Parts: sequence; C-alpha cells; structure tokens
Amino acid sequence: MRDFSRDHRALSLNTATVRKQGDLVAIIEAAARHGITAIAPWRDQVAAVGLDRAVRAARDAGLAFSGYCRGGMFPADAAHAEAARDDNRRAVDEAKAFGAPCLVLVVGGLPQFSRPGSAASKDIGAARRQVEDGIGELLDHARDVGMPLAIEPLHPMYAADRACVNTLAQALDICDALDPGRSGMLGVAADVYHIWWDPNLYPDIKRAGRERLLAFHVCDWLVPTRDLLTDRGMMGDGVIDIRSIRAAVEAEGFDGFSEVEIFSELDWWQRPMDEVLKTCIERHKTVV
Ligand code: ZN
Repeated sequence: MRDFSRDHRALSLNTATVRKQGDLVAIIEAAARHGITAIAPWRDQVAAVGLDRAVRAARDAGLAFSGYCRGGMFPADAAHAEAARDDNRRAVDEAKAFGAPCLVLVVGGLPQFSRPGSAASKDIGAARRQVEDGIGELLDHARDVGMPLAIEPLHPMYAADRACVNTLAQALDICDALDPGRSGMLGVAADVYHIWWDPNLYPDIKRAGRERLLAFHVCDWLVPTRDLLTDRGMMGDGVIDIRSIRAAVEAEGFDGFSEVEIFSELDWWQRPMDEVLKTCIERHKTVV
C-alpha cells in the first residue's frame, strides 16, 4: 500500500468540493497554489467558464486528471432519449478534450428524475435495463474516441433520482455483460461514500480487479447525515474505514489518484477555499 503521509502527490481534487467558493478557473489556480497535481472537473463548472478556457487553465497549471464528471442519466422516455444520447456523447468528447483518464457515469434513476420532463414510471427494473442499453450504446462512441467509462454505483438512497446502480456487484455485472474481454474501456468508480456499507465490498473489489478499477473517490459518512445529497464529511470526520478500502483497491494494483469529493452545504462549502484545500491535504496524509 502506498504511503500518503509524506506528500499529496496522489491527491486529486474533485472540483465540486469547493464549487461554492469560486469558478473553475479560480479553483484551478487555488489547486496549483496548494501543490495539488490533479483535478476532476464537473461539466456545469466547465460550461460556466467555457470548455476552451477550462482546458487552457488546467494545462497552464500543469494539472493532471482523475476523471471527468459526469455522463449518465440514461433512463428517459422516448421523447427524451435522443437528447440523453447526444448529451452523453458530448460528455465523452469533453472528457477527451481534457485528456481525462475516464468519464464517470452517474447512471440515473427513474426516467422522470433522470431526464426531467420524461413520463413518470415506477419500474426500476426497466430503468436498469435502459441504463445497460445506454452504456452499451455509449461504449461504441467511447471506444472510437478512446475514453474509458467508469460506472459509479451510488448508495441506494439515490436509487430513485440519481442512480439505480447501487452496488459494485451490479456495476460489475454490467461491465461483464458489455465488455467481457475486460478491455479497460469499461469499469467502475469506487467511491467510499457509496460502497462502504456493502457486506460484499471486499470480494467485489477483488472481482473488479485492476482492469475495472478506474477511479477511487474519498470523503466520509457523517452520523447523523443531515441532507441526503450535500452533507458528506471530510475524511476522518465520519465512520468509513477509508484506509482499509484503499488497501483493498491498491492490492488489486490500482495506482491512480485518490479523489477528494465532498458535497457539504452546511460546512465545507461555507469555508474559505484555502482552508478547505489545506484540510483536504492534511486529512489525505493522516486518514486516507
Ligand atoms: Zn464519487
């Protein structure tokens, strides 16, 4: 297992962590100022400053990438299917423009939440089939462009609105169905926030193996959790045994970035950007 205690070379900043404190260009400048070597930007933050400007700023700062957030939201009714398809192809192309190592997929839940305006449905089985079909179709484009797709299973509390893929096992079943040859073009983003509780976590990390482990995200699970989406904790402030999960991921050969991704309306989004980044770095050394 790698020693993170001496420096933060392996830390990547998911730019949502400081999304309220500045635009993407300001975040890139702050990351560089703190010696952070990689980021994972969000599409809405990129769109706000313009793709070309964002790519240039990241390049000028010498930053690498741990992923691009995000594609997905596949379930849609017939009237919204084409828009979903086009949107995902654009996400792949944007990820390529940055030279990101993967496009992270948050696959979507029921169609009315995944693609608003779609007819309401309670059929989560159908949504899951649409997810698999959508990833299969996008994978053709991703292969053409050379952009790996990383399915991020989300905690089951998001099954209705954000992702009906809720465990590593489910994500890996999709990978095995669509990419049986383990080509490296389809895998998972393992986010400790979403998978720490899973009784099958460690066998599933082993099952994923090096070829399927495309990204590793860290934050912490707070007790109590005050908001379903925006109350993620700073590493070390919650109950996740982050280091054991990282050890398991690295035992499979994963040697990529550990990406800090914290949505925290009540706490970290309220603090100055430099304080948040300083704390991320310190906790990365001591608890990740
Ligand atoms: Zn994540």
